[in-house]
Amino acid sequence: MSIALQIRSVLSALPKGVRLIAVSKTQPMEVIMEAYNAGQRLFGENRPQELAQKVGQLPNDIEWHFIGHLQTNKVNMVAGKAQLIHAVDSERLLRAIEKEAAKQHIAVRCLLQVHIAQEEAKFGFSPDELADFLHSGVLSAISHVRVVGLMGMATFTEDLEQVRREFRFLKQLFDQVKSDYFPFDNNFRELSMGMSGDYPIAIEEGATLVRLGTTIFGFR
Ligand SMILES: *Cc1c(COP(=O)(O)O)cnc(C)c1O
Repeated sequence: MSIALQIRSVLSALPKGVRLIAVSKTQPMEVIMEAYNAGQRLFGENRPQELAQKVGQLPNDIEWHFIGHLQTNKVNMVAGKAQLIHAVDSERLLRAIEKEAAKQHIAVRCLLQVHIAQEEAKFGFSPDELADFLHSGVLSAISHVRVVGLMGMATFTEDLEQVRREFRFLKQLFDQVKSDYFPFDNNFRELSMGMSGDYPIAIEEGATLVRLGTTIFGFR
């Protein structure tokens, strides 16, 4: 199926309030332009250098999302380019983004990444670490980073019930964090979860942003 048809097919199944991020990492410009010409405007990248290069060469009405693990020494390549940084996984990274955002005199929107998978390899705050971090009051001392929600990745498994439990857990955590720490902040509303293999479940469990690479562009 063509990229345009894939996009149309995914969009036709997305409920209102859920947005599609086309994960364009490793894809060349002309392939991204095919999606752009089909009307897609949200794209996701996971390497700072690649993001910077693509931002410079592609239309400026694209909304770029940085979805990968971000090293503190690369923050300057992402802040001001990505509309949303999905995977803030430590206080150290958050402080580095704050510093860069202050330097650029901009606000940077971020999601806190939570480790929900039963896998060692995935980044993110554990639920306990997240609670400690929010409780510590660090965020109230920070003025350029806007935390607008949570992000997570489910275990890579055939067991779809496990995937569902993990997404459901993240949604409950999101609701809890919202009511405890952001009750009057309408910007805190994004829940980034769901990739090509599991996004229908993520949507059923409350995702507002799904990140699809393979489904849109085929295998990398
Ligand atoms: C690559 C990537 C995706 C997209 O993966 P697909 O399985 O190709 O849809 C989503 N989220 C993150 C964080 C990624 O790195």
